[in-house]
Amino acid sequence: MELIRRSAWGAPATSPAPSLLSAQGVTVHWLGAAWTPGAHSACLSTVAGIRKQHLADKVNGYLDIAYNLIVCPHGRVIEGRGLQRRGGANGNATLNARSYSVLALLGTKGGPGEQLLQGLADARALLRSNGAGAKLWGHSDGISTACPGPQLLAWVRAGGPRPGNSGGGGGGGGGGVHTVVRGDTLFAIAARYGVTVAQLVAANGIKDAGAISIGQRLTIPGRRTYTVRSGDTLSGIATRYAGVTWQQIASANNIRSPYVIHPGDTLTIP
Ligand SMILES: [Zn+2]
Ligand SMILES: [Zn+2]
Repeated sequence: MELIRRSAWGAPATSPAPSLLSAQGVTVHWLGAAWTPGAHSACLSTVAGIRKQHLADKVNGYLDIAYNLIVCPHGRVIEGRGLQRRGGANGNATLNARSYSVLALLGTKGGPGEQLLQGLADARALLRSNGAGAKLWGHSDGISTACPGPQLLAWVRAGGPRPGNSGGGGGGGGGGVHTVVRGDTLFAIAARYGVTVAQLVAANGIKDAGAISIGQRLTIPGRRTYTVRSGDTLSGIATRYAGVTWQQIASANNIRSPYVIHPGDTLTIP
């Protein structure tokens, strides 16, 4: 994983935030506003815009962008205040000393794609090798807020699984069966097995995504992935898989117009 440095999005190289050499864990945030992913350059402009907004915020008196790290829908990890600094996003001084903060570039519409979750797991691993403990919280675990939204909160509750890992629940890359327990949601189940909600719905002929019941047995579809090579296009990749369109691949991976893919990206094939 390559950390995108502050200079890449126009911030001074080092954050003026006080140091925080260790903390109990990581707190996850979302944008909480309408935001549509586009080209990766737009992610960097969004981050620069957030810093500008935070510096102008006289109520909170931020001295820098409030987050330690930012993760974008392309799965990239972007340096905010950076490692071993006290963040300012968790709600109060106690909460900011308790955990580092990571912002997911996720708006209120649509869910986190696999690459975003992969990036969040990368960001957490990076923080953990730089002083963060094993705890994982959503912003709303500390204060009353809609942040980080229901889907990221489900991912937090599931322990922050990396897409493609079984998360200790069996299944994994080869598919399998999951018996629904109290509190399960399709999103949490999908995150746990590294598949998409759309794949779960298709594999089980589910008509109403809200209507799964305790004890119901769900087929977990096997997971196919493709690693992007230089020169690949979505339509070129789609021709390798019978019955799969490039639009389905784009949607399964939360890729939107202008449909940018990067060598090394791992795409889920629906
Ligand atoms: Zn938040
Ligand atoms: Zn991006």
